[in-house]
Amino acid sequence: VTAKLDTASLETLVADLVRIPSVNPEVDRAGGTGEAAVAAFASDWLRERGIAARLQEAAPGRPNVVAEVGDGDGPTLFLCAHLDTVGAGAMALPFEPRVEGRRLHGRGAYDMKASAAAIMGAMVELAAAPLRGSVVAALVADEEHASLGAQVFLAEQATRREPSGRGPASQGCIVTEPSEGRLVLAHKGFAWFEVAVAGRAAHGSRHDLGDSANENAAAFVTAVREHDRSVLRRRTHPLVGSASQHVATIEGGSGWSTYAERCVVRVERRTLPGETGEQALGELRELVAASGARAEVTLVLERPPLECDAESPVARATREAVREVRGSEPEVAGVGYWMDAALFAAAGIPTVDFGPAGAGAHADVEWVDLDSVAETARVLVAAARRFLRQG
Ligand SMILES: [Zn+2]
Repeated sequence: VTAKLDTASLETLVADLVRIPSVNPEVDRAGGTGEAAVAAFASDWLRERGIAARLQEAAPGRPNVVAEVGDGDGPTLFLCAHLDTVGAGAMALPFEPRVEGRRLHGRGAYDMKASAAAIMGAMVELAAAPLRGSVVAALVADEEHASLGAQVFLAEQATRREPSGRGPASQGCIVTEPSEGRLVLAHKGFAWFEVAVAGRAAHGSRHDLGDSANENAAAFVTAVREHDRSVLRRRTHPLVGSASQHVATIEGGSGWSTYAERCVVRVERRTLPGETGEQALGELRELVAASGARAEVTLVLERPPLECDAESPVARATREAVREVRGSEPEVAGVGYWMDAALFAAAGIPTVDFGPAGAGAHADVEWVDLDSVAETARVLVAAARRFLRQG
């Protein structure tokens, strides 16, 4: 017997979460409030409804909320949303939720407090009936910057003892970034590179001694563009499209009358499922060699891509849950942007993304479709029940 989720209180919850600012302080130093207030509200809200919820410090003053339902004797399904948002930008009243028709406006409404609300509502619904196994909600901090919340959560879960000798195969995760009701099975990764091109410093009058690092970098910069257009854009994945790279920043030289000793070119590469930062590093080194520049290439940061087997238990459970709730199969999709989903997958937990509809992530007009939030909550409940049976 499925009790209907109370959509009115779910909508109130979305508004309550938007009303509590949780701007990531690393993204917006002036307006950054952090996640402490919204996390306290969310864990209190869950506890008042009889759900075991606690705060977990992702960084000083920057908590995750971790909540759990079920008897723990069986598979584990993780439900993940991030609690932080980007800054308010030029929004007039960013934290005054406003409903127009079925759209709720406000900073974080779409990215992704509505999703956090859907998870919280689903937890209440799931707690109402006996469950074999566990559903663990991870409402995490810092996704918009360094994903500290997801990393701390996963480090703790890695030490979790699996009951009945079950291994990671019986785990799954649904990340709930807005997906417009599609089932997202893949996203791109990215890698950041610093390319330090060398020159020889000399007084501006000494063309006989000087060698401009900036000029030496020019051939490399052109090669990055050429490699992007002629090779990477033709390298494609059926769900996420093509790989790409671009020259993000260039910093070189020290003054008018000095031959530039050093020019640092920062290149961002978007990777496809199956590609690694190491491979991209090798390709960039080849471009450096071909350009004739003397340069050192460093991989500064890498975030892996996501790819989930369509027949994995979590993908099947989510697909069947959508069919049960909506009456039709979801569109299967891939997206270009990166999410915490890849960190769960990298921890050996098969992971999909499914979330509400709306618009305006990181933009000055942001809204979420409230009907899609209610649908997301119902899909999470149905997916969890299916996963715990089959996982
Ligand atoms: Zn997001």
